[in-house]
Amino acid sequence: MTPNTLFFIILAVFIADFIFGRYLSWLNIMASKNKLPIELEDIYDNEQYQRQQQYFRTNSKFGMISSLFSFSIMLIFLILQGFAIVNEIVVGWQLSPVWSSIVFFGILYIANDIIGLPFDIYDTFVIEQRFGFNRTTIKTFVFDKVKALLLTTIIGIVLLYSIISIYNATPDYFWLLSWLAVTLFGLFMSLFYSDLIVPLFNKQTPLPEGELRNKIEAFASKAQFNLKNIYTIDGSKRSTKANAYFTGMFGKKRIVLYDTLIQTLTPEEIVAVLAHEIGHYRHRHTVKSLAISLPFSLLLFWLLGMVLQSNMFAQALGVATATFHINIITFGILYTPLSMLLGVVQNVVSRRFEYQADNFAKSYGLRNELISSLKKLSADSLSNLTPHRLVVFINYSHPTLYQRILKLNRD
Ligand SMILES: [Zn+2]
Repeated sequence: MTPNTLFFIILAVFIADFIFGRYLSWLNIMASKNKLPIELEDIYDNEQYQRQQQYFRTNSKFGMISSLFSFSIMLIFLILQGFAIVNEIVVGWQLSPVWSSIVFFGILYIANDIIGLPFDIYDTFVIEQRFGFNRTTIKTFVFDKVKALLLTTIIGIVLLYSIISIYNATPDYFWLLSWLAVTLFGLFMSLFYSDLIVPLFNKQTPLPEGELRNKIEAFASKAQFNLKNIYTIDGSKRSTKANAYFTGMFGKKRIVLYDTLIQTLTPEEIVAVLAHEIGHYRHRHTVKSLAISLPFSLLLFWLLGMVLQSNMFAQALGVATATFHINIITFGILYTPLSMLLGVVQNVVSRRFEYQADNFAKSYGLRNELISSLKKLSADSLSNLTPHRLVVFINYSHPTLYQRILKLNRD
């Protein structure tokens, strides 16, 4: 194969990925016009349903424009050999190879962030605002951006520095050692996410005294979950949309309920949501998800290790000899189809886990409360109730509301 052929394969993969994404979005738009199944008819009244359809169409259009925009820029960038140009600039600064790669990725990250910024602003302060979801102030928005930038810089430098040093020290065992390093880092983040990352953006507080705490306490002891690991979080700082999640493993597990969830649901419904989250814990879903992702990331590093020294991978993007960061870019684009495939596998597993967690709540007699809480949460966030089957199969980490209700009602 010649570098030119490889370049055209890169273009083909990139374009195919965009077209497929747009195709999925189109399928979803077609499916949104379907009649609601009987089980979901009571979620929206007529007026609310019109609002939901409007919200869906607005978001579809916005997604179309923003993805078309970033696609076009990247396409032009590829054709003009933009990666080679950025590389040349960085090489001109005569940094060490490790820092050249770090600075190279830094420039791309910041450029990408700047390109995406107007879309972020429009999404938050125009679309979400218009439909009454936005609670983010300009101050919060700016601080979020700055904090995310600092966090990415620190984590990015640490990870890249370790990986590139491993590569320079022992290219033959790069795949195994880097995989180990990234896995350990992932494990560390999974354990300390709630202690280190969340407090930068949100305030977590233990459950306040009162009726809700008593009801939760009664259930938590029945389900053998330590009440001390249940927190509320100020999600209302950014959006009215409600949520709850389970995170961590071993001694660092935690269930987090959004304050917006507590405002929207009755105490019984909150207990049902909590039961679902405890279901994730009792089934060890975080450990299992991590275990499932390990062979995938090993495959990724193994493939990457094979092409990092390939001059052709660099030449395809207009750089004469193999360069760590350029080869990663080529690899990253060519890896997209496989990454999507592995993502589908992870989503299939994740949807299974959701059914298991729902079933756990059901086993405590909370079926009706769980169904009504799921319905309320869907209604409040104007979610799309009829996504296309293929979109669900590929992109959804959770089953649809309809699927969950059907499963919960089946005995
Ligand atoms: Zn869940």
